[in-house]
Amino acid sequence: MIIVMGSREQRDVDNVVSKVEQLGYKAHVILGVERTVVAAVGDERDKQRLTALESLPYVEQVVPILKPFKLAGREVKSESSVVECGSAKIGGKHFGVVAGPCSVESREQINETAAICKQYGAHMLRGGAYKPRTSPYSFQGLEEEGLKLLKEAGQANGLPVVTEVITPDNVPLVASYADMLQIGARNMQNYGLLKAVGKVKNPVFLKRGMAATIQELLMCAEYILSEGNPNVILCERGIRTFETETRNTLDIQAVPVLKKYTHLPVVIDPSHSTGHWDLVTPMACAAVAAGADGIMVEVHPRPAEAFSDGPQSLKPDNFADLMKRIKPLVEIMGKVL
Ligand code: PEP
Ligand code: MN
Repeated sequence: MIIVMGSREQRDVDNVVSKVEQLGYKAHVILGVERTVVAAVGDERDKQRLTALESLPYVEQVVPILKPFKLAGREVKSESSVVECGSAKIGGKHFGVVAGPCSVESREQINETAAICKQYGAHMLRGGAYKPRTSPYSFQGLEEEGLKLLKEAGQANGLPVVTEVITPDNVPLVASYADMLQIGARNMQNYGLLKAVGKVKNPVFLKRGMAATIQELLMCAEYILSEGNPNVILCERGIRTFETETRNTLDIQAVPVLKKYTHLPVVIDPSHSTGHWDLVTPMACAAVAAGADGIMVEVHPRPAEAFSDGPQSLKPDNFADLMKRIKPLVEIMGKVL
C-alpha cells in the first residue's frame, strides 16, 4: 500500500513509519519532488488494515500498489531516479557510460584501459575480478588481487569502479573495494545474492538474465530494494533467441517497456548482447535513441590478447568513435553525456 503524506514534517512521517511497522509491514519512505510517500510492503493478505491510517490528519490517502513490483514501480515514485556513484550519475538527464575490460588481467592492462576510458569520456570503469564463466576451465578472474588493481586504476584515473560479485559470502569483500556491485545475468535470480547486496550501501548494477522476462527482472530489483538499498540500475544485455548470428539478441524494446513501469535507470550492454565489436557502436546508438540512461561497453587495448570476450571488445579508437557518435544523439534525447 502507498501512504500518501499530506505533510512533509519529519515527525508525521516518523509516526506513519512506526504505525506501519506496528502492523507488521516494512516502511520505505520515498521523498519525491512533489510529495512524500511511505510504501508499506509485506504480506499482501491483510493489507486492508493499513487503510485505517487514512484517518490520521497528516495522511492524504492510502492506495493499493497494483503492480507486483512495489518499490521499483512508478506507482510509488513517478519521477525517474538518478543513481549516484562517486563522481558518476546515471538516470534522469544523466547519460552514463561504463567502460572497461571484461576481466582485470594485470596492473598494466587495467591502468592502460582506465586511462583510455577516462580520456574518451567514460564515467565509470568496469572490470571483472570474479568471472562467472560457462566453462570451469576458462579464466576465472584474479579475485581479490583483481579488486585491488581495479580500485587502484579507478582512483588513479578519477573513475568510480563497478565489478561483479558472484556469491553472497563475497559481498562484504567486493563492496569494500568496488563503488558499485554488478550482479551478472547468470545470477539475476540468485535470491540469496540479491538479498545480500540489498543490505550494503553500494549501488547495484543488475543485469537481466538471458532467459528472464522483463517482469522477472523487475521482481529481482524488488528483492534488492526491499532489503533497503534504493540504488539499483537495470541492465538489458541481450536474451537468448533462435538467432545465431549474434551472441544474444538485444531486446531494445525492453528500454521503453522498463521506463514505463519503473523509475530505476535502464542501461544497455551492447557488448554481451551482440558478441561482435563492430555491432557495438550501432547498438549503443540504438540504445540512446530508445531512451536508455546509459551503456556498459567492453574496451581492451589489445582485444586479440584479451583473457575473455576479446571478439566483442572495442579497441581504443573504436571506443573514441562510439563516444563521438553517441554525443549528438544523447543531446537530441535531452540528456547530458
Ligand atoms: C560481464 O559483464 O562481463 C558479464 C559476464 O556479463 P553478463 O552477466 O551479462 O553475461
Ligand atoms: Mn564480458
